[in-house]
Amino acid sequence: MASSPPSVLNHVAGAPVAGVATFVKHSPVDGSVVAVVHEAGPEVVDAAVAAARAALAGPWGSMTVAERVALLRRVADRIDERREELVAAEVRDTGKPEHLVRELDVARAALNFRSFADTVAATGLDSFLTDLPDGRRALNYAVPKPLGVVAVVVPWNLPLLLLTWKVAPALACGNAVVVKPSEETPSTATLLAELMVEAGVPAGVYNVVHGFGPDSAGEQLTTHADVDAITFTGESRTGAAIMRAAAPRVRPVSFELGGKNAAVVFADCDLPRTLDGLARSIFLNTGQVCLCTERVYVERSVFDEVVAGLAERAGALRLGRPDAPGTTTGPLISQEHRAKVQAYLDLAVEEGATVVVGGGVPDLGEELAGGAWVEPTLWVGLDNSARVVREEVFGPVAALIPFDSEEEAVRLANDTDYGLAAAVWTSDLERGHRVAQQMRVGMAWVNTWYLRDLRSPFGGAGLSGIGREGGRHSLHFYSEPTNVCVQL
Ligand code: NAD
Repeated sequence: MASSPPSVLNHVAGAPVAGVATFVKHSPVDGSVVAVVHEAGPEVVDAAVAAARAALAGPWGSMTVAERVALLRRVADRIDERREELVAAEVRDTGKPEHLVRELDVARAALNFRSFADTVAATGLDSFLTDLPDGRRALNYAVPKPLGVVAVVVPWNLPLLLLTWKVAPALACGNAVVVKPSEETPSTATLLAELMVEAGVPAGVYNVVHGFGPDSAGEQLTTHADVDAITFTGESRTGAAIMRAAAPRVRPVSFELGGKNAAVVFADCDLPRTLDGLARSIFLNTGQVCLCTERVYVERSVFDEVVAGLAERAGALRLGRPDAPGTTTGPLISQEHRAKVQAYLDLAVEEGATVVVGGGVPDLGEELAGGAWVEPTLWVGLDNSARVVREEVFGPVAALIPFDSEEEAVRLANDTDYGLAAAVWTSDLERGHRVAQQMRVGMAWVNTWYLRDLRSPFGGAGLSGIGREGGRHSLHFYSEPTNVCVQL
């Protein structure tokens, strides 16, 4: 007999808490029920915010930086120790290939805690010795303080990775958090709560509320009168709604939002390396990474070769169960998201695209028929006026468009309302620097993609976000200095 699916509870003041209602979480792989999730409701959200506020007034509020650093390192160690449980939970919710979750999501979660422990441990005070023309001298120094109760609202595509990317620096700075994971991926945020308790993080410092966005835990948390700041990763439209929620009390927001990222391929690139990198940037995590490439601009003389090379690599992807040997590519997150991606696949054809590969729903047999599968897809024959070239699809798709000059490539790549990331592929070092610097984005790569140092600034321009996180950039957001000026 099949065992019943696990219940996923809220976590408030160090303990699991039932919700006002429950909802069912389906596997993206085959549609089976994988969890029953407790939706928080306003009372549980209130209790979570109150628990966070109370934690700030308790021992957490008077801990030294060194003590907080030691705690963050203990959380990272617990993530390593319970890695396989986290991998299993993340795979169950997302349907991603197991190796990807182990190597990318869970490994980065531990690294996020260690990296921000290092950063905060190495950060001193901003100070200035000021000499005035009248002979007076003053010492200025800025004492960093936590913002207070921080609401952390995150999406489903890299659930634990993106959650810890915000929770680790928030805790490093001494805040208490209430996190709202995506309704599609509730499990690892809840498991992390157990690890926090085991690591000795005081009750109330990390709270989890489950539910949806509008009229549910997301909206209840972001409109809550006792939340001091909001950090959000997700769609640009949701960012706009949260910005409205934050406006009446003028609370700080940090937004990591959508993208419509370009790759620019010059004829002088190392073609095999470029094709491998491009394919990874289009298809990793079934195209469900905010940094994924959905627009590829190619110098005309190598256009046909790039189209053929990418089509070959798309054809070599293996869609399948997360634990099946050789699986490279999982499903989309849900039937709802597949319907959105499918609408874009249809729209592309209506807008005049020629489908090079893919374009539909694959037949993976009866066992996977209830999953949210879609074919990796490449289009040619479109230009920047097409909606599928302007709007974020968030699936394994890209449009390939030729260009004739460097100026034209820069203009086409920057012709977007988004501004998250771009990649330039060329063997000309000067051109690589020159073009990368002209990209109106938060992150520009040359001859690589996704590679980054966690201390460098991460964020987007335009519809892709507000602010930068990473290293000391995160510490700036999650703390608020009081400047002290002493006349000497
Ligand atoms: P989403 O905006 O639909 O949801 C994100 C979170 O916000 C979820 O927890 C959701 O429940 C909550 N939410 C939704 N409406 C809300 C509201 N009105 N008030 C408060 N909370 C609300 O995004 P998604 O579909 O989960 O994720 C995909 C999107 O995230 C894509 O656009 C992708 O580009 C973006 N993303 C950006 C980055 C980045 O770093 N820039 C990283 C990953 C994903």
